[in-house]
Amino acid sequence: IQIQTSSKSYNVFVGEGVRTEISNFLNNHFANVTRILIITDETVARIHLDKLIPLLSEWKPVIFTAPSGEKAKTFEVYYEALSIALENGLDRKSVILALGGGAVGDLSGFVAASFMRGIPFIQVPTTILAHDSAVGGKVAINHPLGKNMIGAFHQPEAVFYDLELLNTLPEQEIRSGFAEVIKHALIYDADFYHWLKSEIHHLNALTSEQLFESLTRGIQIKNEFVSKDEKETGIRAFLNFGHTLGHAIESEMGYGNFTHGEAVMIGMIFALKLSNEVSGLSFKTDEFISWVQGLGYQTEIPEQLSPERLLLKMKQDKKSSGGSVKFVLLEQIGQPKLQELSDEFLLARIKNL
Ligand code: NAD
Ligand code: ZN
Repeated sequence: IQIQTSSKSYNVFVGEGVRTEISNFLNNHFANVTRILIITDETVARIHLDKLIPLLSEWKPVIFTAPSGEKAKTFEVYYEALSIALENGLDRKSVILALGGGAVGDLSGFVAASFMRGIPFIQVPTTILAHDSAVGGKVAINHPLGKNMIGAFHQPEAVFYDLELLNTLPEQEIRSGFAEVIKHALIYDADFYHWLKSEIHHLNALTSEQLFESLTRGIQIKNEFVSKDEKETGIRAFLNFGHTLGHAIESEMGYGNFTHGEAVMIGMIFALKLSNEVSGLSFKTDEFISWVQGLGYQTEIPEQLSPERLLLKMKQDKKSSGGSVKFVLLEQIGQPKLQELSDEFLLARIKNL
């Protein structure tokens, strides 16, 4: 799949075994790669690193292993990765290779964006969520005061999405990533949505064809939004469907207790109900809810969370501006729009969800 942005165009290769193409790509795409730094996390290193290292032996790659999950995206880990890069003599002709999920991708991309004012990087995603995070060039680490607050736009040279590496994902991580696939369908492609709904009934038993179709279509849709709006001034905001409430739930629950996609699923149900009420959508939310419950998603706001605090969080979201909450709603499946909604209106709906 070719990703086209105003700053760059690059390919996402999707399929079983595509990792074996990386060394050819490096030899053909770069005049002379001096060093390769693989950034991965503890879990992925344990399960998959040995499938990559032999393929890159001619460069004798340096390995940096971050803690797994969101703990990879701290200043301390970022600093350590830069130290490893300097100690091992990386220079502007070196390449960083991200082997892992969205957390490793975001960290590696930000290391690559800032090391010597920017060096090339390649993504080798290992989660379903990464069909989203590896496309679009947003890279970041977290600050204790906010997630993804320190970052850059830095596009990879290529993405090698080897589906063989996804076989080991725990079901909760499949669920997290698949919520974004469903999101991409809802905001862009009614046919894809109906295909998903008729085809996918068990996330722990996806066939290769179902996985391939879901990820390639998801990537193409993400590209549609990103290519027209690389720096997020307009339609890229539609990708935030389900995320306004989703982010608030995620942060109130504490990152790591509730996966991103699981929180976004509840946010999407909320946005679908709002859309039925105020933007002319006529969507059978009950059918949707029973489908996704069958896939193992929670569909209600955890009861320990306070609606008032959720509203406050939504207003603090960096994508809100001027104190009012702009929601992504749907006019139809595949037709998103932005709408401002008042605090009182939202608070009443959160209490009712
Ligand atoms: P993740 O990278 O934290 O991975 C989730 C967990 O799965 C981790 O514990 C990881 O070690 C493990 N794991 C990864 N691959 C595995 C495999 N193949 N087998 C077994 N375990 C595996 O999380 P994620 O859900 O991939 O990504 C979430 C991150 O992505 C968040 O930090 C989020 O902010 C970011 N994100 C970025 C963008 C973007 O545009 N840059 C978009 C969406 C999300
Ligand atoms: Zn998301």
